[in-house]
Amino acid sequence: MRIARFTRADDEPRFALVGVEGGTEMLAVLAGDPLYTGVSLTGDKVPVEEVRLLAPVLPRSKVVGIGRNYADHAAELGNELPTEPLVFLKPNTSVVGPNDPVMYPQQTQDLHFEGELAVVIGRICRDVPVPDVPKVVHGYTIGNDVTARDLQDRDGQWARAKGFDSFCPLGPWIETDLDVTDLAVRTTLNEELRQDGRTSQLIFDVPTLVAHVSSFMTLLPGDVILTGTPAGVGPMVPGDRVSVSIDGIGTLTNQVVAS
Ligand code: ZN
Repeated sequence: MRIARFTRADDEPRFALVGVEGGTEMLAVLAGDPLYTGVSLTGDKVPVEEVRLLAPVLPRSKVVGIGRNYADHAAELGNELPTEPLVFLKPNTSVVGPNDPVMYPQQTQDLHFEGELAVVIGRICRDVPVPDVPKVVHGYTIGNDVTARDLQDRDGQWARAKGFDSFCPLGPWIETDLDVTDLAVRTTLNEELRQDGRTSQLIFDVPTLVAHVSSFMTLLPGDVILTGTPAGVGPMVPGDRVSVSIDGIGTLTNQVVAS
């Protein structure tokens, strides 16, 4: 299933299943949030082009980031490979949706995109063994782990560099049935290809990441784990359009706007 969250004419956000009917992308509206109430169709349908898609999930408590999880990306920033996953947090207030602006803060002079596969947690869990990880995953979406690279270097701690409002675009929807072991992750800046990696290059794969993170903190339904970015990160300036595409999910596009 593909699950989107949307608003029409600024109404209350709703959830919907995404499908195609007669060549048109359609939303079949759901009665509640499928994370908590299961999938219950209202019978209402609306074309995707008539709505504004929102972030498909509002993380209940946290967005967990993973640093240096592709060897080529660790090398391009001059970092050693980690011997266990390098974990950081982004506040849930950093989340925005498809086509929402990424605000360029005045505190940075070096704002980077990082296209990433995002894991959406479906059940409260702790100490999840690797074989049980599929039971706690709701689905997958696309994330852009926007980072103020100069502040990341200067602060040591990454809370500010990765935590500004709008630094975590998510979308365009959640795909619940997807084999994520070898998917292309591509980022374009103004239509020019900048990142071209595959999830098979992850140093720590998705089951290992979920098991590791849940070994020290409880994960809640709606929490998100960003799995790390391939090589090719680079700066964005106001006016740039950044798109992250992942096989089997779709494309997440956002524009950078001066603040
Ligand atoms: Zn990242």
